[in-house]
Amino acid sequence: MDGLIAIGIDIGGTKIAVATVAAAGCILGRSTMPTQAERGFDDGLRRIVALLDRLMAETGCSRRALAAIGIGCAGPVDPIRGTIDNPYTLPTWDGVNIVEPLQAEYGVRVVLENDADAAAMGEVWLGAGQGGRVVVMITIGTGIGGGIIIDGQVYRGIEGTHPEIGHHSIDPTGPACYCGMRGCWESLASGPALVAAVSERAPGRPSGPLTGAGVIAEARAGDPIAQAAVTRAAEATAMALFNLTNLYAPDVIVLGGGVMEAYDLFEPVIRQTLSRNTMAPVDRIAVRRAELGSDAGVVGAACLALDHAQLPAVRRAPLPPR
Ligand SMILES: [Zn+2]
Repeated sequence: MDGLIAIGIDIGGTKIAVATVAAAGCILGRSTMPTQAERGFDDGLRRIVALLDRLMAETGCSRRALAAIGIGCAGPVDPIRGTIDNPYTLPTWDGVNIVEPLQAEYGVRVVLENDADAAAMGEVWLGAGQGGRVVVMITIGTGIGGGIIIDGQVYRGIEGTHPEIGHHSIDPTGPACYCGMRGCWESLASGPALVAAVSERAPGRPSGPLTGAGVIAEARAGDPIAQAAVTRAAEATAMALFNLTNLYAPDVIVLGGGVMEAYDLFEPVIRQTLSRNTMAPVDRIAVRRAELGSDAGVVGAACLALDHAQLPAVRRAPLPPR
């Protein structure tokens, strides 16, 4: 099995997930640990190496069999320099290079990507994006992130910049967003946006600390304020997807993340809105729910690592037609 196994690492603000992934397209083992960024990067790096060593021992993957390591990390990150530039959710890791020390430790190619791009690549390789030539994957949860994969490659902007799809404005008179704009998709349809919409209309609501999932549950139970919040989020999402179909004319749009567990509440508005689009071939654009769940990030990171390593021994499973 030499040279046929990659490690995928998914680094978020609260949790780090890792997996050993065979180039043939299956997860051999997985593990997680809390990020605890407040303990500093050196401590985090030591714990990542210990976690990887333990996982490799458990899954019978020797260091010799390891072909490459891919990291998907909560952005912004610089995939060219290998640095994490995220003062928002990884404050003490801001500016660190995570690629070089792992490369030195394991002696294999290590690549760093934005976590949304890694998740998109995971869905294209083994999930709902399979067979798509232009795939837009959106994750709606605590925030809204997106990745665009064109012909199997991550779409990038200037100097490797990751496009922030969740921060395109749907309503310039909407709520102020930390990015500097108003009415961003994220500030209208993320989990916190659902909570904010309920709090606005019913300040001091006695039902305890609200979460996005809580708002969705209340909407399902028939609460009109929660239903209005979900409707606003669904309308914003439908408008965002309308824009994306015009901008990218994708084959496939994949929707994942915690809020999309309520996809059934969003779907009628999305379908109705997209059907109004006379410019894009919306009848042939597949809108699908993500299939890999929390595995998308590690699978996609491993896939990117294998692609970048370009080892002759690596024969990644071809993308099957759908
Ligand atoms: Zn924004």
